[in-house]
Amino acid sequence: PAPIIIVGAGHAGGRAALALREQGYAGPLLLIGDEPHLPYERPALSKQLLLGSQPAEACHIGSSQQYRELDIERLSATRVSAIAPASRQITLHDRRTLPYHKLLLATGGRARQATLPGADLAGIQLLRTLDDAAALRPRLQAGQRLLVVGGGFIGLEVAASARQLGCQVTVLEAGDRLAARALPPAISARLLQLHQAHGVEVRLGCSLRGFVGHGSVTAVELADGERLPCDTVVVGIGIQPNTELAAAAGLAVGNGIRVDSRLQSSDAHIYAVGDACEFPAPQDGQPQRLETWRNAELQARHVACNLLGADEPYAALGWFWSDQYDHSLQLVGSLPAAANCVTRQLADSGVLLFCLDAAGRLQGACGWGAGNSVARDIKLAEMLIASGKALDPVALAAPDINLK
Ligand code: FAD
Repeated sequence: PAPIIIVGAGHAGGRAALALREQGYAGPLLLIGDEPHLPYERPALSKQLLLGSQPAEACHIGSSQQYRELDIERLSATRVSAIAPASRQITLHDRRTLPYHKLLLATGGRARQATLPGADLAGIQLLRTLDDAAALRPRLQAGQRLLVVGGGFIGLEVAASARQLGCQVTVLEAGDRLAARALPPAISARLLQLHQAHGVEVRLGCSLRGFVGHGSVTAVELADGERLPCDTVVVGIGIQPNTELAAAAGLAVGNGIRVDSRLQSSDAHIYAVGDACEFPAPQDGQPQRLETWRNAELQARHVACNLLGADEPYAALGWFWSDQYDHSLQLVGSLPAAANCVTRQLADSGVLLFCLDAAGRLQGACGWGAGNSVARDIKLAEMLIASGKALDPVALAAPDINLK
């Protein structure tokens, strides 16, 4: 029989391959990825890996031996260049064609490049892969001047790691607050305070004209002509989902590869998961694309069951975390701007934000603080969302009333 083929050997691809075997699939299984590494998780790339507190191997999903023992064939450093859904075949970059029984697209996303003059100078780095992290790490020596373009999570985590390594760090953000796409203003403000307290210069509402240097970057030029000297630039302006392969094959593509609630694409033999896919949000059916660890992990596990015939809708809530210095941010569910928000101050200067719908049911929660209490409270918030019960906003706001 033809194999199940997984395209993309990142987090979701690696996890799905292992999950297929855990679910008892004994047929041929092929995992194809263009990176030279074992599948791996990316969150540590901007944190422990830059800080040097964790080796690259700690990010791996499974070991070579495990894939061998489970009879999962891996093709690494191999790009899939085309899919022919009608004949159920894929083409590799070397023109080899392979038949599939079912196909899983776990192609993730790539870091968006700056398109400004000078963007190809040496010393301007992106951060998406293990290789990117390995290239960036030696540049973050104490005293080095780092400019971070983009005040989103990747940029801010790199800023925090670089400060802890003793670099001089400036963050340039075009918007009027940090991580505005994901966070409510009150939490953005706390992020800003924390970075400033750690000596990061944050410039909001800052637009760039280009990068300056001969061969290597030596400065960033702002729209008003000011030049900020630097040794390294990290560009963290979001990702672009890898959807071209699916689009060229004629699959439905929106802001990601379109799938239904069972994670099946517009072709019945092809599924998609992770950063690359656009799926109906379990809460309201609106199409959404998530770029988070949990989404990759849970969709991969879920799709393994559906590839084997379970045919179940994916219903997990979105959940995201970011670690910066000794602080942790956690976000669960959705935080619509129009929602009724309730704030609970935590003892250790942390804060919890609850978003309720018109009927008082919890839709999402966001926590920020040092220590472990945020993680615990967000777990409880997740249970409260799942319960679907109307909650008392006054009790939610009162720090002395136990969420449990
Ligand atoms: P990826 O892990 O990107 O894997 C896709 C793989 O497919 C890649 O290896 C790609 O090269 C390969 N590929 C693409 N096209 C082809 C092709 N045609 N042929 C062969 N191979 C192909 N999330 C959190 O929730 N919390 C965090 O703290 C957090 N921190 C992060 C820090 C960093 C630096 C980064 C980059 C991400 C972070 N994330 C975090 C996000 C999380 O890592 C991603 O959501 C997750 O990796 C998505 O998994 P994926 O498998 O969909 O995509």
